[in-house]
Amino acid sequence: MIHDFTYLKPDSLKEALSMLSEHKDDECKLICGGQSLLILMRQGMIVTDYLIDIKHIKELDYIKFTQKDGLRIGATTTHRAIEKSDVIKKHYPALSELETKVANIQVRNWGTIGGNLGHADPAEDPAPLLLTYNAEITVGNAKGQRTMPLSEFLVGYFETALKKDEMILEVHVPAPDAKTGAAYQKHGLLENDLGTVSAAACVTLDGNGKCKSAKIALGCAASTAIRIKRAEEILVGKPYDEKAFAEAGKIASEDCDPVSDIHGSEGHRRELAGVLTKKMLIKAWERAKA
Ligand SMILES: Cc1cc2nc3c(=O)[nH]c(=O)nc-3n(C[C@H](O)[C@H](O)[C@H](O)COP(=O)(O)OP(=O)(O)OC[C@H]3O[C@@H](n4cnc5c(N)ncnc54)[C@H](O)[C@@H]3O)c2cc1C
Repeated sequence: MIHDFTYLKPDSLKEALSMLSEHKDDECKLICGGQSLLILMRQGMIVTDYLIDIKHIKELDYIKFTQKDGLRIGATTTHRAIEKSDVIKKHYPALSELETKVANIQVRNWGTIGGNLGHADPAEDPAPLLLTYNAEITVGNAKGQRTMPLSEFLVGYFETALKKDEMILEVHVPAPDAKTGAAYQKHGLLENDLGTVSAAACVTLDGNGKCKSAKIALGCAASTAIRIKRAEEILVGKPYDEKAFAEAGKIASEDCDPVSDIHGSEGHRRELAGVLTKKMLIKAWERAKA
């Protein structure tokens, strides 16, 4: 049963931030698509006195891209809009592919990128790939805004760096360098559901076809989506080498920190982290070469 709450529906971002500020000492939650929050409220895991509905704040519903600045996605943009965006398909194909595997069309039509990152479930899809893209998050309150790397925003299981009066405003993904390729895959029992483990890789090649930079991140393999920097470092300066990718996978399986639960044991998750890391490095490299 959902406990009683006062439903607030601001007409603008300014009004939403002012409501958040007014209720910062109360039990108060933002709701956007409700795809994650309502489940927790129905289970009684979240009880709130005030619910501020930001779903219809059009100022935060946008996808913008320029070659210089990269990609900016407003917080209330839906998964489906990201999946269908032509600029994302062109410049960040791994992101549109990822979105096709988020839940089902109904959830993607209503669930948003702000709600996904705000929920901070380490099993969710976008965060690992966004980490490899060096994404930043802009959050704001009634007094102003601040921007931080996604890695700093994700603090722990269902925990973010948001203060009580702040909300996510925007996700920024820098423009990819030339000769960059990225890939993401999750492994789970159901194809379009939260994965048991996921891996993302983003590779940039230099003029000689060697690795200029590599970024690797895992989902559902620690309390947040995490970068595996030790594995990234061993690839820099190397040519295409599947043995090096396997070594990177081995490091990923060692450096992650998964739990055992009904979806998979810790050992199973470590194994998957290694296999998926190698696979995503191969795919990202092929794309970087093309
Ligand atoms: C059946 C099902 C399958 C799913 N499968 C997947 C999957 O395969 N992959 C995946 O990644 N996810 C999956 N999800 C989760 C869901 O798709 C995402 O969590 C969704 O993006 C949540 O967005 P929302 O707008 O509905 O968030 P809400 O449920 O409205 O909010 C979620 C949390 O974020 C907070 N929040 C919302 N907006 C903001 C904001 N702008 N600033 C700060 N905090 C905010 C809320 O207070 C709440 O704590 C699934 C969900 C369901 C129901």
